[in-house]
Amino acid sequence: MSASLLDLVRPDLRGFAGYSSARSAKVQGEVWLNANESPWANPADPSASCRRYPAPQPPALREALASLYGCAPEQLLIGRGSDEAIDLLVRALCRPGRDAVVVTPPVFGMYAVSARLQDAPLREVPLRDGPEGLQADIDAIIEAAKASGARLVFLCSPSNPAGSGIALADVERAARALQGQALVVVDEAYVEFADQASATSLLGQHENLAVLRTLSKAHALAAARIGCVIAAPELIAVLRALQAPYPVPQPCADLALAALAPEALARTAERVAEVRRERERLQVALSKVPGVRRVYPSQGNFVLVRFEDAESAWQALLAAGVVVRDQRAAPQLGDALRISIGTPEENTRVLAALGVRQEVAA
Ligand SMILES: *Cc1c(COP(=O)(O)O)cnc(C)c1O
Repeated sequence: MSASLLDLVRPDLRGFAGYSSARSAKVQGEVWLNANESPWANPADPSASCRRYPAPQPPALREALASLYGCAPEQLLIGRGSDEAIDLLVRALCRPGRDAVVVTPPVFGMYAVSARLQDAPLREVPLRDGPEGLQADIDAIIEAAKASGARLVFLCSPSNPAGSGIALADVERAARALQGQALVVVDEAYVEFADQASATSLLGQHENLAVLRTLSKAHALAAARIGCVIAAPELIAVLRALQAPYPVPQPCADLALAALAPEALARTAERVAEVRRERERLQVALSKVPGVRRVYPSQGNFVLVRFEDAESAWQALLAAGVVVRDQRAAPQLGDALRISIGTPEENTRVLAALGVRQEVAA
């Protein structure tokens, strides 16, 4: 098993050990004078929590995330958001000018940005618009990946901005079809808001599968920049060697760990439930707004809406002080805006700006 998975890694990087940081040396002692750190705290940091370089992968946080996501700590790499994980995967697997990356536009832009920075060819397999929404075409994805000799396939599920999910059976089908050729990456930035379960349950059966998770969306910690990639331990070790020496700032690690305590997780779950209720309310109300062409089903914390006159809708929202995401430059979305689900009051303001008459509040 391991042999064929590591065959997907760039040959020039196999066995690359990366930077050997002061914190990675396995030595013991009481007086630590090996990293040119200050012996005193900064006045702004009275507890001295930031005096020393942090652990490259803070063990307590790694364990808490692994337990949250149902995997082993060795299967998980913490990085600066899942954005860093995307970049590490492209760098680890794609030889510049040769190994392609498959993406499914309209989709989150970072896959293409990372491919571009690596000079990896980009193969686009458009989402297909149908009665169920804008959905990934798994057969076309498999075919394109095979035809282009792709090393990486990014499946965004739930998809940003389309809102659609990819059935686990389809993820499995792609992984099986591309075994030995490409890594299938399921970006689950929004899976907490979805009806379906995470693809992490498939990792045991499919070594060429990776899952991206983040604390940026459902966990409300976008500024802490904590995200991770979950995959086979051999691949995680390769990615770790490519990563910056100390990728997880201590204050962020502390905050993330606190966010994974039971009470915080319970609160997060309540918020997720509230977002799902509000998503439903917004979808129902928006679909009745004159000038709304289509409200897509959504598994995320946003809704994608097509307008007869998207410019007017955009302007009406701006005039009401509401900033949404203009999707008009994205392929297939020339008439669409993406609206994140806000608080009930904020969502009501969105509806009011679009001319929905409100029920009289007490
Ligand atoms: C927001 C988003 C991310 C970025 O997550 P970070 O962990 O904040 O880097 C990744 N993928 C998708 C699809 C997103 O929408």
